[in-house]
Amino acid sequence: MLAKTKHFMKQANLIGGEWVQADSGAMQGVTNPANGLEIGQVPTSGAVETERAIAAAAKAFETFKKTTANERATMMRRMYEAMLDNVDALAELLTMEQGKPLFEAKGEITIGANYILWFAEEARRAYGRTVPSPWADRRIMVTKEPVGVVAAITPWNFPSSMLARKIGPAIAAGCTSVIKPAAQTPFSSLAWGVLAEEAGIPPGVINVVTGKASEIGGELTRNPLVKKMTFTGSTAVGKMLIRQCADTVKKVSMELGGNAPFIIFDDADIDRAVEGAIAAKYRNSGQTCVCTNRFYVQSSVYDEFVTKMTKAVEALRVGPSLDGNNDQGPLIDEAAVQKVEELLADAVEKGGKVVTGGARHELGGSFFQPTLVADATTDMRFSREEIFGPLAPVFKFESEDEAIQMANDTEFGLACYFYTQDLGRTYRVMEGLNYGLVGVNEGVITTPEAPFGGVKESGLGAEGGAEGIYEYLDTKYTCIGGLGL
Ligand code: NAP
Repeated sequence: MLAKTKHFMKQANLIGGEWVQADSGAMQGVTNPANGLEIGQVPTSGAVETERAIAAAAKAFETFKKTTANERATMMRRMYEAMLDNVDALAELLTMEQGKPLFEAKGEITIGANYILWFAEEARRAYGRTVPSPWADRRIMVTKEPVGVVAAITPWNFPSSMLARKIGPAIAAGCTSVIKPAAQTPFSSLAWGVLAEEAGIPPGVINVVTGKASEIGGELTRNPLVKKMTFTGSTAVGKMLIRQCADTVKKVSMELGGNAPFIIFDDADIDRAVEGAIAAKYRNSGQTCVCTNRFYVQSSVYDEFVTKMTKAVEALRVGPSLDGNNDQGPLIDEAAVQKVEELLADAVEKGGKVVTGGARHELGGSFFQPTLVADATTDMRFSREEIFGPLAPVFKFESEDEAIQMANDTEFGLACYFYTQDLGRTYRVMEGLNYGLVGVNEGVITTPEAPFGGVKESGLGAEGGAEGIYEYLDTKYTCIGGLGL
């Protein structure tokens, strides 16, 4: 482990500027999914510690909300620089707890840094407006104000960048936060606490609590001092948090599950489609919310796509991620492997053909072979359920309308992709797909400059883009009368 990695690996919670343990002293282990070995421990905190963190955030908000946008932007720029200066250490920490290849971890740290920079710039553009008044002697003003204390709950698949998309706009807007990371990957979130300290962000602006999910989530949603909940994770937990937030009418932003279709039309550049398909399916071992869940290929190019895709899948190198030479690491845990096995068995039973892969990898543990299943049909479970693993089902379709209908036949609406070289078709299909994110002839499209968010049961609100900061701002209308005009 790099010396700098140890520096970022905090085995404590951050509350009001102090690194502290749980009141009970209880700790929970964090393991490396590549070898099952414990890499460290974090406090098992609960409702009491969370209440304390919320109080610290509320106290810090009283002064932080008065800082200027310029002051906040300056702190955030320092945070951005600190991240870039420490990419290697932060990426090593991320790979150790999450398992993704080192090059992907470096990419995640870099994009997280870019979100911070983007929101540092957006802080200075959180404009209100003046409105032409219908009254001769009154004036109308619309201003934006920080919502207050924000609760942020994040998943294990992008433990660093998912948080960048939340604390970036929160700090930019002048809000303070209480963060609860996923149990499997708390260190990358705790590292944000170190970065915040080093960037001169005042104590209490960023608080991080690890431990019992339902107790921490219960307090974050119950406590009236919390004004907003921002969550990234499964649709089931997201729905529960929305319900819990109802009693105190908190603002909510939800980045939930996906079931991304990837459509290849007969006029597509198939080689380009294969390249995009590999990135959109196997990145992070298939464990991203925007990962392709269903490939739809037009019948006349079906065999060509399957042949070329199989070759590309077989070229993927699987192995421990810290080696730096591999394209695919382990899955996050044994339960994730079992889910892939179940979906695969269901598909095979219903006539799916395993073209390559199809079993656990010889490395053992939670390594799984990159897998491709042809002859997929809509009665197979992966047609509806998020796979979250390196398994690519390939369905066949005949017409454009059929492809759109199949792609939309899900309660999810996060990302979708399609490949065509026909301009008219590009617009028809783009407008026909009920999704928040559309990649046309591209398999990876996330960038801080663009809004990221789903429709239907994939979520509420957007992270990034010009939209991102407004999720952390309230709108105030002021009418000034008696002006004697
Ligand atoms: P998850 O089980 O919903 O967990 C996400 C977070 O919620 C974790 O921090 C977890 O804590 C916490 N949590 C669980 N139960 C809770 C409760 N009762 N109260 C409060 N918090 C609770 O999801 P996951 O398996 O980690 O992540 C994968 C899912 O996230 C997939 O569905 C994926 O599509 C989605 N995702 C969506 C996006 C997006 O931008 N739309 C991005 C990434 C991932 P513990 O770890 O302590 O249980």
